[in-house]
Amino acid sequence: MPYIKSKIESLKRSNCALDTTFFQAVEEVLISIKPLIDADPTYAKHSIIDRILTPDRMVKFKVTWMDDKQNIKVNTGYRVQFNNALGPYKGGLRFHPSVNEDILNFLGFEQIFKNSLTGLPIGGGKGGSDFDPKGKSDFEVMKFCKAFMTELHKYIGPRIDVPAGDIGVGAREIGYLFGQYKKITSTYEGILTGKPHMFGGSLMRPEATGYGLIYFTQRMLEIEDKEPLKDKICTVSGSGNVAIYTIEKLYSLGAIPVTCSCSKGMIYDKRGIDLNLIKEIKLQRRGCLEGYLETYPDASYIKIEDYPKNTHPVWDIPCYAAFPCATQNELTQEDAKKLIKNKCTVVAEGANMPSTTEAINLFHKSTVMFAPAKAANAGGVAVSEFEMSQNASMTPWSAQRVDEKLKETMFSLCDNVSRTAKEYGVTGNYVDGANIAGFKRVADAMIAEGV
Ligand code: NDP
Repeated sequence: MPYIKSKIESLKRSNCALDTTFFQAVEEVLISIKPLIDADPTYAKHSIIDRILTPDRMVKFKVTWMDDKQNIKVNTGYRVQFNNALGPYKGGLRFHPSVNEDILNFLGFEQIFKNSLTGLPIGGGKGGSDFDPKGKSDFEVMKFCKAFMTELHKYIGPRIDVPAGDIGVGAREIGYLFGQYKKITSTYEGILTGKPHMFGGSLMRPEATGYGLIYFTQRMLEIEDKEPLKDKICTVSGSGNVAIYTIEKLYSLGAIPVTCSCSKGMIYDKRGIDLNLIKEIKLQRRGCLEGYLETYPDASYIKIEDYPKNTHPVWDIPCYAAFPCATQNELTQEDAKKLIKNKCTVVAEGANMPSTTEAINLFHKSTVMFAPAKAANAGGVAVSEFEMSQNASMTPWSAQRVDEKLKETMFSLCDNVSRTAKEYGVTGNYVDGANIAGFKRVADAMIAEGV
């Protein structure tokens, strides 16, 4: 049996259940890298696939904390340290009830290749907890974060593993986590990125993933000889960190983002979303998007629960460019059919793995250009690495310097992905280009470092 096929089959037979998100992510990478593995037997000789599929370690710990009514609560915390061939483990922390080992294995695995694609010295990791910050008071979030870091601090360090934010972990949570690390260790060091600027955070880190996504898309449109985003209708899902700064950058380029969404519903405002209002609702009030209608009664709010299960209202809206920025598997085969029918030109992923495998296959068979997350949303981790660099040298950079470096990084990442796809005979396939280029850099480092 051919090598890659045998690896997928043995994975299917292993304890890794077929319907896991981890298997979904792994299968995509293995299929993509076939031309590289076939061309160079060194990777098989060094068992790189077996080695890269297994995390270096997964730490799982109990987090006990007390809510405002003096009830003792118990959550589970995790950190998966996947691969450090290129540098310290690096990847976000997610606080969401859906967090479990499978989700973190998928996110940690993807992070290896994303970090590799940035060309920066960072390995791959991920972590988090099934704790839900929603509906909790600031004090409760603080108590949880402090309890979480009381365990996590044993496993991280500026040269070991440097976590950041992700779903449910923003500047507030990072601040509490950093404060607790400092208290326990009496050291003031860059063990987290995405910190508020007043204690070592990089300027432009909040903007980085969304801005980077749009820089990547701009470059891809140029390479593929398509019209730029100016005056084009764009759809965005999500209304968190990534979605907000995606919308902000779209406006700065003269595009018209008309949607945003949350886990409960979608806002469609055909004049263009009022971003200041979204920021106020989501970041200050931590409220529901339906509140948008109080200011703009003629906009539409569609509840997710009123919609068929395997599809999402955002992808019904005709657009030139679509940016899924909420969560994994939020853009299905049915959604892909709608985007293709409505003659969408490009889909670029801001969230991690938001499109299902079936949706991606449909895009590849159509004229829709598809930018996969591990390349298109790498701007966040790139600026996190800039933050590590600023912390290590105790020298903050200006916002302009960070933004210029971010743009340069995303343009060159896009060029590299496109060039690699061409080199391996899959011109225009940014999924294969990203997987091959990301895999090759890590695999070559692993071989050079020995077993
Ligand atoms: P936030 O927590 O700031 O926002 C998440 C958004 O997604 C919210 O609008 C949330 O809605 C929505 N959402 C979450 N879960 C679901 C769900 N099951 N169904 C529908 N909507 C959902 O997270 P981020 O913006 O930071 O992250 C978004 C995505 O981007 C994630 O996939 C993350 O891994 C990825 N990412 C983030 C980076 C970063 O720098 N922050 C870097 C690279 C990738 P609600 O408000 O109702 O919860």
